Amino acid sequence: MQEHMLQQLIDSLHKQYSKNEEGEVATYIPELGKADPDLFGICLATKDGRIFETGDSDQRFTIQSISKPFTYGMALEVLGQEKVSRHVGVEPSGDAFNSIELESGTNRPYNPMVNAGAITVSSLLYNHYGDEALEIMLERFSAAAGRRLSVDEEVYKSEARTGHRNRAIAHLLLNFGMVFENIEPALDLYFKQCSILVNCRDLAIMSATLSNLGKNPVTGEDVYDISCVKDMLSIMLTCGMYDYSGQWAYRVGIPAKSGVSGGVMASVNRQLGLASYSPKLDARGNSCRGIDVCVSLANELGLHAFDCMNIGSSYLKTILEQ
Ligand code: GLU
Repeated sequence: MQEHMLQQLIDSLHKQYSKNEEGEVATYIPELGKADPDLFGICLATKDGRIFETGDSDQRFTIQSISKPFTYGMALEVLGQEKVSRHVGVEPSGDAFNSIELESGTNRPYNPMVNAGAITVSSLLYNHYGDEALEIMLERFSAAAGRRLSVDEEVYKSEARTGHRNRAIAHLLLNFGMVFENIEPALDLYFKQCSILVNCRDLAIMSATLSNLGKNPVTGEDVYDISCVKDMLSIMLTCGMYDYSGQWAYRVGIPAKSGVSGGVMASVNRQLGLASYSPKLDARGNSCRGIDVCVSLANELGLHAFDCMNIGSSYLKTILEQ
């Protein structure tokens, strides 16, 4: 039987972009600097639960900032949009992910995809759930991935030991009353959420869970409330790719999130979750090969939300019916 067109496509992109040697592995969290720069995996998960994968799609790495939309969704579910928006905004910041800056006037972090916003969300979750927060988070992330996930202790300890900038951000937030007094355990929760281990397949399924309106397409489990998924995807589209988000919306046009360990996850509305892993990052902190893969997939399959080939997602629908 002939291989599915999506398998052929990702195999060929993997071959093509393995040659891209650009970028540097992140080292500001010392443990991340140990990653093998040649690793490269791609995975697609469809809304009917099929998986297409190639390269190092089994390789585990820490989720880092890709955790941020998922914790934001959890906060929206338990606290509601109004309460969450008193603590964190929805505007792209135009600054680096770890900038020590808050929105003028409100003193809120700009959005939940930059560190200030994500630390605020972790503080909201810690305040709500207390010491159970990490376990509840792990359960939720695991349900989205369809298998039990865990924390990489070495990466967690490495970031907890060296995360002075994030501590500075947390104390600035405390100064403005955006986070709660018990900031140390909330920061600890943030460091642990960033150190949750995933592989490309996990991320593709987590992403497909969002594309599939909150239901994991492999296990059939309802993981996220449909109303929160809309907010999670909107923030990913406007703020998910660091200060490349504007260009990303222009060129790729799919809600996405990347992380400093080299993962990129993107959600094609009601169709597909895609993920790639390759640790070498560009100057903005996005995986070089990950960007290549997403730009090519968007072009080849007409995935951009406003692509003329994507009218009613009919082109992709035809491919998925194969
Ligand atoms: N744990 C990382 C940090 O806070 C996450 C950054 C990222 O992936 O963008 O610095």
